[in-house]
Amino acid sequence: MTTFRVDFLGCKVSHAVVHEVREALLRDGHTERANADVAVISTCCVTNEAVAKSRKAAARAARTHRRVYVTGCGANLQGDAFANLPPNVTVVAKRSEETAAFVAGDVGAIGCVQADARIDRVRAFVKIQDGCSFSCNFCVIPLVRGASRSRSADAVLAEIRRRVHQGHREVVLTGINLGCFRDRGAGYDLPRLVREAGETPGLERLRLSSIEINHVNDALVTALRETPTVSKHLHVPLQSGDDGVLRAMRRRYTTDTYLRRLAPLADEFNITSDVIVGFPAEDDTAFETTLHTVERAGITKVHVFPYSPRPGTVTAADDPIPPQLKKDRGARLRELSHELCLRRWSRKVDDVVLVDRPGRGYGDDYSPWLVDAPVGAFVHVRAAAVTEEGILAEAA
Ligand code: SF4
Repeated sequence: MTTFRVDFLGCKVSHAVVHEVREALLRDGHTERANADVAVISTCCVTNEAVAKSRKAAARAARTHRRVYVTGCGANLQGDAFANLPPNVTVVAKRSEETAAFVAGDVGAIGCVQADARIDRVRAFVKIQDGCSFSCNFCVIPLVRGASRSRSADAVLAEIRRRVHQGHREVVLTGINLGCFRDRGAGYDLPRLVREAGETPGLERLRLSSIEINHVNDALVTALRETPTVSKHLHVPLQSGDDGVLRAMRRRYTTDTYLRRLAPLADEFNITSDVIVGFPAEDDTAFETTLHTVERAGITKVHVFPYSPRPGTVTAADDPIPPQLKKDRGARLRELSHELCLRRWSRKVDDVVLVDRPGRGYGDDYSPWLVDAPVGAFVHVRAAAVTEEGILAEAA
């Protein structure tokens, strides 16, 4: 038996992949702890910065763990970025479905013990889909994760039942392009999966990790509205609020489509988003338009990504915008995002909060709350004040 720890950088799919590794190692009788023999790191390559951070994490782990496995997108796309690390580092350039088996196989099985007892109980990320068949000009994901493919609906629903049985209070459906989920043989698309997943006995909250605006259609909106356990939060990447830049990115919508599809949801659902600043086609006017679109869309939080050209993508050789200008635009967008956050938080009167860390939790619309209650508890709270970190709760 050995001891291990898992860490991830990047998106929720990276989290889900490293969780599969964790489950495989627990099933094989190994013990999870912070100062472990083995470290597994799921890496990200969505920007240069993400690759640099991933390499730093691997180098750090190599100093404190007997064996280190570097997995995920960074290992797949830029394995050479992890070259010249100490000999106890193994780079696992495999598809996500093969990673857990490879790592568990390499660590070696010792026999089965009470694996479930050691899994945290608040939130479970359940992967339903992987890869992407869209081809945005800046994006490296189709290269590292392959074309879109879905798990079977039966496997997903069975995993959700298992996670609820393990005591998880919230399930987050994850994938690279969630709306592409299909189980044609069994007649499932995302709206039907949301309905049935949301009705899992004992499940208290269901959330989508993110959804492309192309997939925010009537069927999905109705399913989200009619399934009581669904969290009133949607993460809908915008990337740019200017039509010229969206065309240059080869995104599959216009700002008008984005605004029109979100308009009916804006009050009821908390909308968060991703925006790239400094994309080659983005001039000052386009950036101002983006700020305006973010506000018009009712977005309350923006994850800001400074554009960085990725190897193998259509725009790999394009990077005309100076770093300082990207930084300035990023700062302005974060400032707007913070203002929009505070505006939404100040409208909150009460909520049902899932406490996921000591002193903190998330409301039904994924707004952050500061709350004094046990981790794993669902508590009904009233807003006492708005702080920089979230809404301060008083017991209802
Ligand atoms: S939709 Fe575009 S940005 Fe998103 S993963 Fe697919 S190719 Fe990348």
